[in-house]
Amino acid sequence: MMKYSDGMMNRPISVAPSIPPMMVMAPSDLWGQAFHDSVDIWQSEQAMFAFHFALKGAPEYPLATGWSVTGAEASIMERPESIYQLNQDLARGEMELGDYPLQIVHAAGYDRTRAPAGYSLLKIEGGMPYALKEGPEHWDAIKAQVADEVLDRYLRYTPNLTRDDVLARVIMSPLDIERMNPAMWRGSVHHLDKRWGNFAPYRLPIPGLYQTGACTAPGGSVTGQPGRNAAIAILEDDGKKLGDIVGKG
Ligand SMILES: Cc1cc2nc3c(=O)[nH]c(=O)nc-3n(C[C@H](O)[C@H](O)[C@H](O)COP(=O)(O)OP(=O)(O)OC[C@H]3O[C@@H](n4cnc5c(N)ncnc54)[C@H](O)[C@@H]3O)c2cc1C
Repeated sequence: MMKYSDGMMNRPISVAPSIPPMMVMAPSDLWGQAFHDSVDIWQSEQAMFAFHFALKGAPEYPLATGWSVTGAEASIMERPESIYQLNQDLARGEMELGDYPLQIVHAAGYDRTRAPAGYSLLKIEGGMPYALKEGPEHWDAIKAQVADEVLDRYLRYTPNLTRDDVLARVIMSPLDIERMNPAMWRGSVHHLDKRWGNFAPYRLPIPGLYQTGACTAPGGSVTGQPGRNAAIAILEDDGKKLGDIVGKG
């Protein structure tokens, strides 16, 4: 939570991170029943995992022509319809590891300072169920094996690399992502399922408390738009307009 008071504002304000973890920050009755009711129907989105590997050598993806390409990003999706499998697996708390779409990022492919010459970085990320049928904490027992299986699937597309080229790894399950950042509730990196337009308001029921970030409109990803919108709401309540404050050189 960021708290500040400056000359522009005539009262202290607070701007809080995502709603579910935020609710513990104030006594329950201060939020009001209507707000509690809306939080009760809050839905998390498909949880994400992020598996990071340091590699000796750089991946080369063979082409049908016999050539190969390297790159900064790739996607692996053998069957496009497999993206829907995630919804079923989420409901059942089970995983079909062989089939999930994978997003691949090679950070050193576009920023050479990220790895020494002759080495590279691999991040494999995507969606997997947070709530396993054994409970989310089961992730701690299985994540190393899950990462191995995902890595083996990836390596089928980069025959110039083997498991021996993996020098180090940082494995983040959906549960680890939530632990790293409680706003990424149940592994939701956009803080909530925004399919239904179920955004949190910028103005919260507690006077002087505002909300911004991925759970407010227009939602997550690195856009800066929720912060801009929340600033507009705060300024309006202070009788000002954004144009009065910024853009005056
Ligand atoms: C693996 C991964 C890959 C991603 N890939 C992309 C991508 O390619 N492109 C893209 O645009 N977006 C991507 N995202 C999503 C993006 O990171 C988020 O949507 C974005 O960071 C949300 O920004 P935010 O400022 O709203 O919240 P956050 O970045 O989640 O920041 C919230 C902050 O609040 C803090 N916090 C939470 N609870 C408390 C508390 N109780 N007390 C104090 N502090 C608290 C957290 O520690 C955190 O610092 C990715 C996310 C992950 C995890």
